[in-house]
Formats: sequence, C-alpha cells, structure tokens
Amino acid sequence: MEKLIFATGNKNKMIEIREILKDCGYEILSMKEAGIEADIVEDGKTFEENAVIKATAISKIAGCLVLADDSGLEVDCLNKEPGIYSARYMGEDTSYDIKNKNLIERAEGVPDEKRTARFVCAIAAAFPDGRVITRTGTIEGRLAYEPAGENGFGYDPIFYVPEFGKTTAEMSPEEKNKISHRGKALRMMRQALEELDNV
Ligand code: IMP
Repeated sequence: MEKLIFATGNKNKMIEIREILKDCGYEILSMKEAGIEADIVEDGKTFEENAVIKATAISKIAGCLVLADDSGLEVDCLNKEPGIYSARYMGEDTSYDIKNKNLIERAEGVPDEKRTARFVCAIAAAFPDGRVITRTGTIEGRLAYEPAGENGFGYDPIFYVPEFGKTTAEMSPEEKNKISHRGKALRMMRQALEELDNV
C-alpha cells in the first residue's frame, strides 16, 4: 500500500485524521512514524499558502504523498484576527484562557449580529511528482460573550455555534468532528484523493 504522511505533531489531530481517512487506499503515517523531523517556516499570507508550504517541503524530504493543514479562528469585528496567527496570537506560550479573554474584551460592546466568526482549516496534499491540491473547510459561528465548556482546545470555549446553542468546547468530540472545519476539509480531501485514484 502506498504511504501518506500527515504533517502534524498533534496527537488529537492524528486520531481524527485516521478516523476520517481510514480505508482510503493509503497507509497513513504521522511525521514521527515516518521518522521525519522538520521545522518548516510557515510564512504564507493565507491558510492555504501555509498548508502548501508545509506539505511541499515535507514531500520533498519524504518522497511520498504528504498532507498538511493550517487552521485558525477569524473574528470579523476584529479584522479577521487572529487568523493565520491563531497559534502565535499574544505569543505561542500565552495560555488560551488569556487569549480567549483578550478577544472577548476587544469585542466589548459589539452586538450579536456583528460577532460573526469562523474556524477555517486548509489542507494541502503534495505529491512526489510536484502536483499539489488544496481543500478548505469552515464552520460559521459567533464570538461568545464569555468562555464556556471544557472540551476541545484553543479557542473552542469562545466559539459559539447558534444552531447548537453552545460553544464547540461544550460539544462531544464526535459532535464537533461532524461539523468542524477540519472534519469538512478532511472529508473533501478524502473525496479528491479517491477521484484522482479513479482517473
Ligand atoms: P494549527 O493549524 O495547528 O497551526 O493551529 C492553529 C491554531 O488555531 C490552534 O493552535 C488553535 O489556536 C486554533 N484552532 C484551530 N482549530 C481549532 C479548533 O478546532 N478549536 C479551537 N481552536 C482551533
């Protein structure tokens, strides 16, 4: 079976990736399992550019199909911040308690209808022959008025999904994966890989 490396060091992401990409015709390996260590500078201007930079660089090292993702939160009333800087916002080592409170403070007084926000996830697939494809998934929601929920990670406690009446940190992992930006992007990428396989 051909190998596919998913360029992430995040264990939780790997569990979700394996679940959604299982039986897609590739053996799925993490960077660690593939024995690859690489610190790629993600200096793109969009989620897609960053995913392509990462996937392409690692595919060149590994010589096989490599998938990489880049994701983050866009808050419309804050000029779509933190955006591609989501992980680095207020410094990589700052706790999400502090980051989340800061975003809420910055949006103080902003009414419901202007608190629109979304999680975005771009996934790039880089093939050893140089071909690259990308797929992007989003989930629309609102910046909450206060953090709520213990599940998930990062900005989940302040991402409120009106249709569900709760934040993504108040959802079970199964519930979140069905509607999440990453779940959507992964399912679209799976379909694209299957279509390419059938050409
Ligand atoms: P990366 O794609 O691993 O670089 O992650 C970017 C950052 O975006 C994460 O560190 C989180 O701060 C944020 N982020 C991405 N997806 C989610 C999510 O599903 N929930 C909460 N925060 C997220």
